Amino acid sequence: MVNTSAAPLLSRLTRRGRLMAKRTCDRRCHAFVLGGFLFRTPTAWEYAAAVAGGSDPAAQRWLGWLPDSVVAEPMRAEALRVVPGTGPEWTTPDPHSVDVVAIDLAARRCAGLVSVHAGEDGSPETGGYLAPGYRGRGRGRELFTAGLVLAHEHLGLTRVRAGAEIGNVASGRSLAAAGMRRAPGPARYTLPNGRVGEAWWYQHDVPWPHRCTGPQAKWLA
Ligand SMILES: [Zn+2]
Repeated sequence: MVNTSAAPLLSRLTRRGRLMAKRTCDRRCHAFVLGGFLFRTPTAWEYAAAVAGGSDPAAQRWLGWLPDSVVAEPMRAEALRVVPGTGPEWTTPDPHSVDVVAIDLAARRCAGLVSVHAGEDGSPETGGYLAPGYRGRGRGRELFTAGLVLAHEHLGLTRVRAGAEIGNVASGRSLAAAGMRRAPGPARYTLPNGRVGEAWWYQHDVPWPHRCTGPQAKWLA
């Protein structure tokens, strides 16, 4: 007699195995390894884990999300325990952003998120954040390097910019360590919750960018 109850579990495990083994882009997904992280188009659960990783007060001091977007406790701790490779396929709620989640391959944890999105003037910007356990360890360099790789090697962009709030030394240091150089830009920018901050601007240029087969930044096309 066939044990049919095992079939759904087997199917889930197979899918999860395939997601974690995936290292190249396809029509629906970006995927690349950099340092100890796999950067990949997130599943719904991985996205929730990443958002939870930026929802603590220390991160929100700089990110300034709308209250609806911030994951509060006890959901935050639960979301941070998501096992990478699980959860249904996900479409980003922001059509002007290409997001990839940083998966710590050794710890099998969602460690953060980096995106290439439209800035206030519509030009491409990169930005991201790390979960609490990954800050202050030089991992910000890997995160923002992944932002540059996504922009230049996957989305075909010659130039990408980034803003850091004046005083956010960790972020500025990570952007510089990733190879971005200081550049002129608007003195102020507005966070999603309406708070206005003063900005340091950075940019990075390459002469010959590349487009992968993955989802493209349609707002720039
Ligand atoms: Zn790609």
